Amino acid sequence: MTMQDDAYLKCIDPQCALEYPIESANVQCEKGHMLDVKYKNTPSEDLKELFAKRGRMDENIIFNESGVWRFRELLNFCKIDTFNVEECSKYLVSLDGAEGRQSKPYHMSKVAEFVGISTDNFWLQPEGYNPSGSFKDNGMATAVTHAKLIHAKKIVCASTGNTSASAGMFAANEGIDCDVYIPAGQIAPGKLSQAYQFGAQIVEVDGNFDDALKQSLDDAQKFGGYTVNSINPFRIEGQKTIPFRALEYLKWDAPDWIVYPGGALGNTSSCGKALMELYEWGWIKKIPRIAVINSEGASTLSDLYNGEFEGEELRWNKGTPNIELISRYYDHLDKEGIRPKTKATAIQIARPANILKALRALEFTKGVVTTVADSEMLDGMSVVGLNGFDCEMASGATVVGIKKLISKGIIKKDDVVVGILTGRQKDAMLPVEYHRNPENKFAIPPKN
Ligand SMILES: *Cc1c(COP(=O)(O)O)cnc(C)c1O
Ligand SMILES: [Zn+2]
Repeated sequence: MTMQDDAYLKCIDPQCALEYPIESANVQCEKGHMLDVKYKNTPSEDLKELFAKRGRMDENIIFNESGVWRFRELLNFCKIDTFNVEECSKYLVSLDGAEGRQSKPYHMSKVAEFVGISTDNFWLQPEGYNPSGSFKDNGMATAVTHAKLIHAKKIVCASTGNTSASAGMFAANEGIDCDVYIPAGQIAPGKLSQAYQFGAQIVEVDGNFDDALKQSLDDAQKFGGYTVNSINPFRIEGQKTIPFRALEYLKWDAPDWIVYPGGALGNTSSCGKALMELYEWGWIKKIPRIAVINSEGASTLSDLYNGEFEGEELRWNKGTPNIELISRYYDHLDKEGIRPKTKATAIQIARPANILKALRALEFTKGVVTTVADSEMLDGMSVVGLNGFDCEMASGATVVGIKKLISKGIIKKDDVVVGILTGRQKDAMLPVEYHRNPENKFAIPPKN
């Protein structure tokens, strides 16, 4: 049995490298840096068999049904006996095993044709079929598990919508209070209504997501709330299971590419961490490249990574990224009054909190970053629908991002590609408006 009884927290800045016990209530290093959950043991590769078996077993053990906790040996920061169901029930937060349960890669022929790749080499993994309707449930299950471990009374988050829906859902299920900070008037009605439905306390912030995050962090500090945004390293642990499920489905034969939309870059960071760990343990022989797709209207990572600001290509640089370049970029946005602007509100973020972890992930995977326009994302969202799958506009970025990278020859025609569809449609009028306009590529306008 592999028990990771030696998990701890470590600052990601190699010059700082402070370490903390798992039971620490702070989600960041005291110098303000980001933290990683680290494990000392190398899990045995035999676990691959066990994970597959758990997925097939019908034993009414919710932790084996859960697409997150099925992999619990690889995220055992609670340091529990993972075979002891009673102990699992006491510690692990789960919505009756529903988180991550429905998500796996699918072939989508119409999308494959649209992006210009053979269906056999192309997979999309819909994370919208999570209980609250987005990938956020993967990481929220683990973040709320940690909140419970340290006896937090209240969880707090800022949100473009899906984080608040997910946090509200798990908090309600666990009987913990939940405050969600939202940019007033800027989140999809289907997401806002979920937060209300789950009994969360909504705090409306006059500003955008970046302003809401700042206020929520300040308030959490002042009033002792536990932050469950993706700066929380335990969120990142749960989100590692998104690539775990994709890789497991591909028999751990790594694809050439894994593609995500980029918002706060928690997904990018967790995918990078998952791949670093799996590669170090020898569970995968090849490192997939990560592609991050920004919206044109909120393109901080792309601008910095591709040298579109001051001509310097921002890199992790083995732990010494040019932080001043990032500060100057933000000063430039402030000075010019540039606000993030896209109809894909889930990725309408100008100050991605996980930018440094994302840079680390991109360095490890030789990643690429590009941007797409709103009209393209709507096409991407709509063609997914024609395959019988539902996704929201931000997830459409994955589709058209892949198309763009193929047309530029960066993704090769015979590469194996897995794209992540991050959430389901919660902005009911978007498809209606899209289809009413016959000019749109995939529109099927109503008849009368
Ligand atoms: C949160 C969210 C994103 C952005 O993910 P990050 O990890 O913050 O980059 C993208 N799509 C959807 C649907 C989301 O809810
Ligand atoms: Zn530090």
